[in-house]
Amino acid sequence: MRNKVSGLSRRHFLKMMGLGVGIAAAPILTKATQSRPHIIVVGGGFGGATAAKYLRHWSKDVDVTLIEANASYQSPILSNLILNGQRSLEQLNFSYDKLAKNYGVKIIQAKVKSIHSGKKQVELEEGKKLSYDRLILSPGIQFMDIKGLDQKKNLHAWMPNSEILQLKQQIASIKKEGVFLISIPKKPYRCPPGPYERACVVADYFKRKKVGGKVIVLDANAKVTVNADNFMRAFYETYKDIVEYVPQSLVEEVDSDKGVVITEVENYHADVLNIIPPHQASALIHDNGLANDKTERWAAVDPLSYESTQTPYIHIIGDSQGTGQPKAGHIANAEAKICADAVLRLLSGYSPYDFPRTNSACYTPITKNTATWITSTYAYDVSSKKMKLIKGSNGTSKAPTEENYHRMYDWANSLFGDTFS
Ligand SMILES: Cc1cc2nc3c(=O)[nH]c(=O)nc-3n(C[C@H](O)[C@H](O)[C@H](O)COP(=O)(O)OP(=O)(O)OC[C@H]3O[C@@H](n4cnc5c(N)ncnc54)[C@H](O)[C@@H]3O)c2cc1C
Repeated sequence: MRNKVSGLSRRHFLKMMGLGVGIAAAPILTKATQSRPHIIVVGGGFGGATAAKYLRHWSKDVDVTLIEANASYQSPILSNLILNGQRSLEQLNFSYDKLAKNYGVKIIQAKVKSIHSGKKQVELEEGKKLSYDRLILSPGIQFMDIKGLDQKKNLHAWMPNSEILQLKQQIASIKKEGVFLISIPKKPYRCPPGPYERACVVADYFKRKKVGGKVIVLDANAKVTVNADNFMRAFYETYKDIVEYVPQSLVEEVDSDKGVVITEVENYHADVLNIIPPHQASALIHDNGLANDKTERWAAVDPLSYESTQTPYIHIIGDSQGTGQPKAGHIANAEAKICADAVLRLLSGYSPYDFPRTNSACYTPITKNTATWITSTYAYDVSSKKMKLIKGSNGTSKAPTEENYHRMYDWANSLFGDTFS
């Protein structure tokens, strides 16, 4: 289908949407009901909260309901800094009040049990059913099994919740000469630099508290997956007496009672095991037959609209989608805006914008007052119909600096503000 709005500037188009004018005599009305379209968004993380906000920011002609299992959101971004006391959980806790107050998003705290795509309905755990014209899912990830792993004892602390506080306590209770072990799954996983960042934060804590212990990093990948120069320098210079980095170390089994990790080559014992299991799209995606990419772990979508290639009227953004873009909050926020824009265009009878770009960024603390950053930009490639990394767009900072450390908070506050207020 040709993009009917290609002659209009994006700003002009969005202005018309915002004014509720609709496009070229095409007001947003569903033919079936001739009522205001209802968009349901499931999951109030970086993807879902942004989509809900921007749908209403750009158009007052649609009703938007955000369904989220929890009362508020605990950001995983910056959460590693809880481990060394530089952030509190309260500082990373975001309510949905501003989305309701400032944009008129209806918030429902509930867990979605199932999706009845034929009837265009979602069913909540309590049994209530809600109808949608378009459904946007941003439910994040779930973990795959590792033999013998008891996730209550060996925490991952990799989800938007308070588990990071328990991990903090476990680390604080490590005695002199104690060992902290973190395992990194094979790519793709949530936040590529995140596990290496956590290793640095814990090593910094060990150094400053004079624990005299070890941080073992078992990486299932052949080498550091991202920002390698900075992390390798941190492991082999800054923390050379503390960090032991072991690439190509896939965790095959865990004995959670004895605190032992088994890999093909060696067994490791540690006082605290921080095992991050391999991920796949959230249970909501799998249970509803939407995990249809070639690995059957993620949801295949059209990157112009994030509409499922499996089931029409359902859009999947954030870490659950399988476009090959990184699994990260900054880019989930960008995907959400592309998706919201596409949904509004589709509801008006137009095609999605045909040249979307997304951007990913992460700041990474290396010591208590220095950080590094990475960034990359993706553009839609017409011939492959995929999002492709723009050559030369991916960069990293040359070295960890104090300036980067301060900018990390500016960057995060701007992302938090754009998502939740
Ligand atoms: C330690 C750490 C550091 C990180 N640092 C960075 C960083 O520097 N930069 C960056 O860009 N990214 C970072 N990330 C990654 C980022 O947090 C995730 O990529 C991002 O949260 C993904 O957003 P999402 O909306 O897909 O999922 P989530 O944020 O996981 O949100 C999913 C939401 O859906 C809800 N939900 C799930 N199922 C249901 C259901 N059935 N019914 C109702 N609600 C449901 C959940 O309760 C949750 O609130 C980091 C992650 C970690 C762990």
